[in-house]
Amino acid sequence: MSEPYHLSRRDFLKLAAAAAAGLGGTALACRKSAQPLTLPEGSLTRVPLPVETQAAGVFQPGTMADIVLTDGNVMTVDALDSTRQAVAIAGDKILATGASEEMLALAAPGAQQIDLAGRTVTPGLIDTHIHFRGYGLTTTYYTAFNPPEVVDIPGLQAMLAEVLRTKQPGEWLMGYYTALGDKPIPTKEDLDPVSPDNPVFIMHIGGHWGTANSAALKIADVTGKTPSPQGGIIEKKDGDPTGVFYNHRAMDVLRKYAPPITDQLIRESIIQTQQLLARCGLTCFHDNNVRGLEAMQAYQEMSLDGSLYLRNNLYLTLEWPADLDLLDQVQFIQNDLTRFAGYKFLIDGQGPTAYTNQPHNGSEWRLPTWDPQMFKEVVKSLHNTGLQICVHCIGDAASDLVLEAYEEAQNANPRSDPRHRLEHAVLTSSGATRKMKDLGVVPSTQPAFIYLFGDGWKALFGEERMDRIMVTREWLEAGLHLTIGSDAPSTPFFNPQASLAGAQNRLSFKQTPIGADQVLSFNEALRAHTIEGAYAAHQENVLGSLEAGKFADLVVWNQDPSRQSLRDLTLTQSVDLTMVGGKIVHQA
Ligand SMILES: [Zn+2]
Repeated sequence: MSEPYHLSRRDFLKLAAAAAAGLGGTALACRKSAQPLTLPEGSLTRVPLPVETQAAGVFQPGTMADIVLTDGNVMTVDALDSTRQAVAIAGDKILATGASEEMLALAAPGAQQIDLAGRTVTPGLIDTHIHFRGYGLTTTYYTAFNPPEVVDIPGLQAMLAEVLRTKQPGEWLMGYYTALGDKPIPTKEDLDPVSPDNPVFIMHIGGHWGTANSAALKIADVTGKTPSPQGGIIEKKDGDPTGVFYNHRAMDVLRKYAPPITDQLIRESIIQTQQLLARCGLTCFHDNNVRGLEAMQAYQEMSLDGSLYLRNNLYLTLEWPADLDLLDQVQFIQNDLTRFAGYKFLIDGQGPTAYTNQPHNGSEWRLPTWDPQMFKEVVKSLHNTGLQICVHCIGDAASDLVLEAYEEAQNANPRSDPRHRLEHAVLTSSGATRKMKDLGVVPSTQPAFIYLFGDGWKALFGEERMDRIMVTREWLEAGLHLTIGSDAPSTPFFNPQASLAGAQNRLSFKQTPIGADQVLSFNEALRAHTIEGAYAAHQENVLGSLEAGKFADLVVWNQDPSRQSLRDLTLTQSVDLTMVGGKIVHQA
């Protein structure tokens, strides 16, 4: 097991700045390898393919390799976690793995040889929970009020005043912040003095609450008489709105008046995120928050026209019952690159509005965002479409309710392997793991949360519930298919390396171990970010490990990630090359 690590405040600010900057000047160090990878035009001898290396039904007899990666440390992530020296690729698939000479013997004339010079190769990383488009929007649509410029309310006010000087009166400002010190959630009184002439809405980076100023409240006609929607809170004090909105249901009441997120913005956002994450070795993502038909169409069109080259599984967010009408208009595209994979719900908020079985110290602990009965009915009908269902659950009552809904849907219409999912599963009850196993439910969690939110959870839920936080080892021991991801931009840790490190670390920002007995080994974390990520979308037969017949999605690292310190793993750019379906999509 790797040693625990601590990111200093400076490291964290660096990472936050990198996240905020996106491609425009990332602060992640680009570590150059001693020797750059070269792709010489080889003239290798043609030899017949040994029968045993052919994947049945995939390759024609005699198929030769176009690309051979040799002399490396290839972590295949097969069932035995085998390592090999070399990989042979034919077209978009892996022809074989084995010793360098054996793989060179499979090369077609003119094949490319990539001399790995001892470098480590792993399967391409799969982020099973990321808001891919949303990540891009943090630079294309929102203004960031982040550390180091903004760490408290006065800093927020100063920067807000400065940004608004560039706007016309009446022009909207949409922003987000990461941390504001002693007053973590601003109210309209904090925004109004510096924004008399512009509507402003500033969300927390986690995306589950936000604050409007008086000008925005006026445009949206939100007054002391405006009721909170089901599953959301429009906060009021002495009968007057404070400007704070909890949960998407409430924020949508205001956001529908904000400037629209145009098609062009969506596309730009997706392209930016793609470039950033290809550099980190990501080859496949699951967008767990495809909000709106426009976003779904953009992904599908971009996959079909070639501008999106990372594999993607798309889960359409159903925020309101009326969103069900969208289903009639969705194209159910499912090909090698892009798949309409299923549906996403949120059943509670985050932190202060986690739905729990016992009271907590936040704003509201009994607030499922859907009426439980209606939720179960909707789950039942979506289960019957044959696709997957993913539900955001933070509190233990949230996951209990979701598991109940899955169970009822499965009892009413038994499907052989629905693989419904729990997203985050931060706090789960002790009976939940057994039920997940019985129902074949996949836990999809985000270990980097522990560093950012671990101290907050302790304050929110209390010490005695800390041993039920993100029980990754318990899930593995129960035989669940655990998968991990980033949930970016809900945290600045957009890179998969931070999730790999977080799963092995489990220390909070204040260095408090959160469930020390739940840490994963490097190999377990890597499996959760590769083969189990593939499993989480029914793709383990074609993705997630380096085995003959699977897609040639892989990463060449400039150092062995299993031997890096967790701090270095999190903070350094350690990917030399990323390949999707035999095509290089990033090279350092
Ligand atoms: Zn999310």
